[in-house]
Amino acid sequence: MTGPSFFDEGALVAVLTTQPLDRLLDYKAPEGGCHLGAFVEVPLGPRKVLGVVWGAGEGGYDLAKVRAVNRVLDAAPMREEMREFLTRAAEYTLTPMPAMLRLATRSPGLGDPPSMRKIYRLGRGEPDRQTDARRRVVATLSEFGGLAFTLKEIAEMAGVSTSVIKGLVSQGVVREEESPRDLRYPRLDPGQSQYTLTDEQTKASSALRAGIASGRYGTTLLKGVTGSGKTEVYLEAVAACLAQDRQALVLLPEIALTAEFLARVEDRFGARPAEWHSGVTMTERRRCWKMVGEGGAQLVVGARSALFLPYRDLGLIVVDEEHDTSYKQEDGVLYNARDMAVLRASMASAQVVLASATPSLESWANAEAGKYTRLELTARFGDAVLPKMGAIDMREEVLPGNRWISDTLAGEVRARIAAGEQSLLFLNRRGYAPVTICRACGHQIGCDHCDARMVEHRFLKRLVCHQCGETKPIPSVCPSCKAEDRLAPVGPGVERLGEETTALFPEARVAVLSSDLFGSARALKAQIVAIAAGEADIIIGTQLVAKGHNFPLLTLVGVIDADLGLQGSDLRAAERTFQLMRQVAGRAGRAEKPGLALLQSYQPEHPVIKAILSGEEEAFWRAEAAERKAVGVPPYGRMAGIVLSSPDVQAVFDLGTDMARRDGPLRDIGAQVFGPAPAPIARIRGRHRVRLLVKADKGVPLQKALAAWVGQFRIKGDMRLAIDIDPQSFF
Ligand code: ADP
Ligand code: ZN
Repeated sequence: MTGPSFFDEGALVAVLTTQPLDRLLDYKAPEGGCHLGAFVEVPLGPRKVLGVVWGAGEGGYDLAKVRAVNRVLDAAPMREEMREFLTRAAEYTLTPMPAMLRLATRSPGLGDPPSMRKIYRLGRGEPDRQTDARRRVVATLSEFGGLAFTLKEIAEMAGVSTSVIKGLVSQGVVREEESPRDLRYPRLDPGQSQYTLTDEQTKASSALRAGIASGRYGTTLLKGVTGSGKTEVYLEAVAACLAQDRQALVLLPEIALTAEFLARVEDRFGARPAEWHSGVTMTERRRCWKMVGEGGAQLVVGARSALFLPYRDLGLIVVDEEHDTSYKQEDGVLYNARDMAVLRASMASAQVVLASATPSLESWANAEAGKYTRLELTARFGDAVLPKMGAIDMREEVLPGNRWISDTLAGEVRARIAAGEQSLLFLNRRGYAPVTICRACGHQIGCDHCDARMVEHRFLKRLVCHQCGETKPIPSVCPSCKAEDRLAPVGPGVERLGEETTALFPEARVAVLSSDLFGSARALKAQIVAIAAGEADIIIGTQLVAKGHNFPLLTLVGVIDADLGLQGSDLRAAERTFQLMRQVAGRAGRAEKPGLALLQSYQPEHPVIKAILSGEEEAFWRAEAAERKAVGVPPYGRMAGIVLSSPDVQAVFDLGTDMARRDGPLRDIGAQVFGPAPAPIARIRGRHRVRLLVKADKGVPLQKALAAWVGQFRIKGDMRLAIDIDPQSFF
């Protein structure tokens, strides 16, 4: 960028605000002037809004009418690299800039001046009398050892009013202290790994260290079976990065995984890093945002939005479990954190490590094409060996109605219980039953706002729509034919599987792990730790458990319905099933004991099931790649999904048809439009949804053509248009 980097008082500056406007706004620089990139508060109508000084103002109108910037916020100005990154990410995802800026400023009070605040920790006193509320406060604080929290945080965690805590302060049970709001994070010591790395690990870690030492951009796919030491190896890259005084970011797909990972970082580097995800408090969020910008945080562990923090000097981004679908943000700004990590790193001369036991076909293809370096860890660490795999042919099992655990599987579970080992029964379906049907008239209970069936959640005693989150009580009368007590659950969810398991193995301790059974991320973490310590014989779980947890006592994995992911028209169905099954199977036998993974299937001869069982990954990928190449779909072609939605069904179809007809800008680049067709879920929250799909060759300027195409149409009133570049799911 050219132009001045500082603006004197009264100079015209162009400000990008977080408000949904399609242009920059001109203001006069405030008293004392301001830097290019400064975070500022500007007047907009009667309001004050957040913005960033993006460049020199345009001028060319009555300067007397231009208002001045209210104030420059107390935060390091946004660096040029970050402004470039937001601009490029916006161009790639076809997102308006204000929405990008909102992503980059999701830190309440980011501009507040440094100040003190009161924090509270456990003191030495005894309360004059005990109450439940008081006990909860003490228990909450003891749980976190010597850590201190704000009044509000404690009140929330313990579920008490702040007056209870104040009462305890007056008796010395809880101590009140003053502390600066935003502390630097403790220094991490890159030091040495406490392990002697194996040859394979050493080779991989040297390659990653060399990448860091180059000071240039590069992406490495670190592929290794679960338990092969990927984490250990990429922590070496983190160490190398920290030793260069550059910052590192580790992205994890699931908040529930952070606890385990943070403990590991503490072991390796002697202190905890900064944390960034929806589970951290507002105060911590702001501290993290500020310290990342000021250089007071060396390592950030977080969710995908941590990519948009204002790093001073980012040297490494690790994307752990890079194939995980949760890296794709599916509402608001539609971006894939894995791809944006590569973009950001390429602009920051940083290295990217994509770690996975089962890489995405995209990353596999990029490595094949030589764009990424590929490193491989083939052996599990120590004596741990990969589990044996087998299929249970469900056509040969005799199962009474409403039962899903075959005799063969039950026998294996029983053997594990007798040996004091754990079993995992995997079913990727939350709730009690996916369908509730009336036995009198056949009516299935659906959501009032979506074209989706309501899922019974017995634990919550509600029916829940997994599309919009709408819930309603479980009725006793059929809403259609009014028959009484004829509604019946059909099919299994994890809760129902839990019931069956308890009935089959009354002596066993059964733990059901599903995100919706836990009030908070913390409760879930606690449960995972307890299970890892052996406090369950049988674990029942959804895909939550497929993601990288360490259960040393687990030696058997039973996949209840291996066919589940194979149906459906999703282009990635086979890839997903393959990854998920391999991941789940990887849970078994992580410590000394060998594991066994059994897949219940009605079609064990299906190519995907066979590939999973034989473990011939390369063969699977090659076949999958050939298939996609033949039809020109990602990663061998480009796609964009367009979803139009409106409460007015006629209006969406009319617009969709019009868009399909006037496709000139797309035809200019040789792209094709498919549709309009009703989206697979044709109605969500009362809005009718119509989908168009654009397919283009690799290497054409797709975004520009899309912008020109969409620009021809007026999106009026209640109509909404969302563009999804490289769509991951098709709903
Ligand atoms: P992955 O990330 O591939 O699943 P991890 O890095 O978590 O693998 O390693 C699996 C387990 O093996 C961890 O408990 C880790 O501490 C241990 N481990 C890995 N490499 C070594 C080593 N060289 N020496 C000792 N323990 C190791
Ligand atoms: Zn719904």
